[in-house]
Amino acid sequence: MRIENTLPEEEHVTALRRQLQRFVAEKAPREKRRAWDQAHDWPRDLFAELAAMGLCGLTVPEEHGGGGQDIVAAVAAIEELARVGPALAGPFIHCAFYGGMNITENGSDAQKRALLPKLARGELLFAYGLSEPDVGGDLASVKTRGRVDGDAIVINGAKRWCTGADFADYIYCLINTAPDAPKREALSFVLIPANAPGVTTTPITHVNLRYTASCDVHFDDVRLPLDAVIGGPEKLNKGWGMLAGRALDVEKLEVAACTFGFAQAAVEEAWSYAQERVQFGKAIAAHQAVAHKLVNARTKLEACRHMLYHAARLAHEHRPCAIETSMAKLYTAECGVEIALACQQVMGAYALSDAYDIERNVRDLLGMPIVGGSSDMQRNNLAGLWRLRG
Ligand SMILES: Cc1cc2nc3c(=O)[nH]c(=O)nc-3n(C[C@H](O)[C@H](O)[C@H](O)COP(=O)(O)OP(=O)(O)OC[C@H]3O[C@@H](n4cnc5c(N)ncnc54)[C@H](O)[C@@H]3O)c2cc1C
Repeated sequence: MRIENTLPEEEHVTALRRQLQRFVAEKAPREKRRAWDQAHDWPRDLFAELAAMGLCGLTVPEEHGGGGQDIVAAVAAIEELARVGPALAGPFIHCAFYGGMNITENGSDAQKRALLPKLARGELLFAYGLSEPDVGGDLASVKTRGRVDGDAIVINGAKRWCTGADFADYIYCLINTAPDAPKREALSFVLIPANAPGVTTTPITHVNLRYTASCDVHFDDVRLPLDAVIGGPEKLNKGWGMLAGRALDVEKLEVAACTFGFAQAAVEEAWSYAQERVQFGKAIAAHQAVAHKLVNARTKLEACRHMLYHAARLAHEHRPCAIETSMAKLYTAECGVEIALACQQVMGAYALSDAYDIERNVRDLLGMPIVGGSSDMQRNNLAGLWRLRG
């Protein structure tokens, strides 16, 4: 059973969906999805094919070689790719969102000229270096230190959960560059080549999002030109604005779109399974308790679709969307967990074997309220945005 998009959308977005649906049906069958998950790996050749279709240019302006910033299409692309797990959606995000979106929004003219054409062609991958061993939600407290030394910046510290640091070209890294200043006036983003002298990367074992290993990264006297500061040297200590700006709003959409794709796949698989599995003389879908689980899951899914694409449309039109993107991330992640657990129950013992995708989707969906800003951090954001605090 396949759940189709129910919302009105522009023809080119529907055409892109169809193209990606054919692509994954042909090139990402279940045995390959399982193998990528087991090996913590993703298919470089298929990503190159997606890039050749122009996918990576979806977040890059035309003057820099992209297709214009088409946020709705980019979100739809993640949704379609995530239906087969994170192995294709992940690298697309590392290129188009961690790279294309951030450099478009925050890069200097020189950084845009140097990086965006390559990102639009899918030739560069970025990793996100925000979290640290002692820093999760409270990002303004990062301890990784950047010290200006003449026309260079010298970086020392550690990042944790830096997904893709093992394959990325650059780490888009949040650091403290003014330890004596108030926290929000002390932050900068720097672009650290993942192979720079002084960078060491160690994989972390984890159960979710296994298209790669998330990594611990250490920076020991990593010396870079000051031009490595995102936005150029004049943007030193201006990182908080970048963290709270449009790029982060779109980042929340990227996590929500992935969640939505995983959840949709879970419902589709459980729905089909329930039609085929016969117990007590009839398909289990004909048992009311099973049917209700599936109907509830599909209804939640539909609510998520509306929230996600409403927020994506606002972001696409450059309208304020901090509230809508936070709500979409929060609601999709929370529904994703409920959907995962309901579908797992419907599929019984088989949901616990790797014969079906549900086993991977449950693992991935359970992590989505944590990654990319936890549900409680979204609630805090929303409370602040709605002025509910204190
Ligand atoms: C597979 C995986 C991949 C990841 N990839 C990346 C990546 O590429 N780059 C990156 O930078 N990070 C990455 N992360 C890290 C992820 O973004 C963080 O886990 C997330 O931001 C939450 O941080 P934390 O786990 O340290 O939780 P903490 O911040 O320590 O919070 C723990 C719990 O306390 C709650 N809490 C904390 N503060 C408050 C508060 N003020 N009010 C209410 N509740 C609060 C949280 O909601 C949470 O439930 C990844 C994580 C995983 C598991």
